[in-house]
Amino acid sequence: MRIYRTPKAMQRASRQWQRDGSKIGFVPTMGYLHAGHISLVAAARKRVGPKGRVVVSIYVNPTQFAPHEDLSTYPRDLPHDLQLCREAKVDAVFFPTDAVMYPGREAGEYSTYVAEEQVSQGLEGVSRPTHFRGVTTIVAKLFNCVLPDVAVFGAKDWQQAAVIRRMCVNLDFPLKIIVAPTHREADGLAMSSRNVYLTPREREQAPVLWRSIEWCRRRVREAGELPAATLIAEVQKLIQTESTGRLDYAAFFEGDSLKTVEMVTRGNHMAIAVFLGKVRLIDNGRI
Ligand code: AMP
Repeated sequence: MRIYRTPKAMQRASRQWQRDGSKIGFVPTMGYLHAGHISLVAAARKRVGPKGRVVVSIYVNPTQFAPHEDLSTYPRDLPHDLQLCREAKVDAVFFPTDAVMYPGREAGEYSTYVAEEQVSQGLEGVSRPTHFRGVTTIVAKLFNCVLPDVAVFGAKDWQQAAVIRRMCVNLDFPLKIIVAPTHREADGLAMSSRNVYLTPREREQAPVLWRSIEWCRRRVREAGELPAATLIAEVQKLIQTESTGRLDYAAFFEGDSLKTVEMVTRGNHMAIAVFLGKVRLIDNGRI
C-alpha cells in the first residue's frame, strides 16, 4: 500500500494507473476509520474490480468546521487507519497536510471555494451554514488529486452525498458517485468517528436517533400517511423521555430531491440531528 502526501504525487500515481487501464475507486474520509468506512472501501473495490485501484483519503478538512466546532479535538489515529486500510486491500492512501491542501490559507492567500447553493441549504445547512461549502471545496480538490472513475460516499451523510452529486453534475466531474448503506452497531447506532466522544451514559442513549427513525417508519406504515409536524412532536417527546439529549432537528423530505414534505408517506426520507451532551449526532433513513 502506497501513501501519497501531496496533490502532485497523488496525481502522478493516478495518471499512471489511468495509462495502465486501471479504474480508480475513491473513498474520501476524515480518518479514525471504522467498519462503516471499510464497507465503502469494499463497495469501491466491487466497482473497479481486482485490477482496479482503490484510494482512501484521510484528511480532516478545516474549512468544513465552524470556529466553535470540534476541529482541534477531532479524533485521529493514523497507525490504526493504515492498518485497517492494509487489511482491506486498499492500494493507496492520500494523506495530505493543511499546507499542501490550502497553501497560503493562514496568511489569507487561499481564496478559491466551491459552493453548491440549493441542496446544501436545508437540514445540516441550517445548523451548520458554512459546512457544505467546505465539503464541496475539499471534495472537488480531492477529485482533482485522485482523478477517480468512481467515488463512494456513505448514506450516513445523506445530504452530503446529494450535494456532491449535484456538484458533479453541475461542474461536469467525469466520475460516478455511489452511495453505500449506513453501517450500524448492534443496537442501531450509526457508526461514526464522533461516537468516541460519548460518555458511557450517552453511548447507552445514542440509539435513540435510530429508534426515532424506526418509530416514525412504524407510525407511517400503520397510518398510511401522517403530518410531518405530528411526527416531529412525537420524536421530540421520545428524545426527551428516553435520553438527556436535545433534538436539533427532525425533518421529512423526498429522498432524491431533498424537498420537504408536509404529509409523510412510505418511501419518504427522514433525517435527525441530536445533541447528546456536547456531541452532535446525525442519522437518517427511509420511512
Ligand atoms: P467521515 O470520515 O465521517 O467524513 O466519513 C467519510 C465517509 O464515510 C463519508 O462518505 C461518510 O458518509 C461515510 N460514513 C461514515 N460513517 C458511516 C457509516 N456508519 N456507514 C457508512 N458510511 C459511513
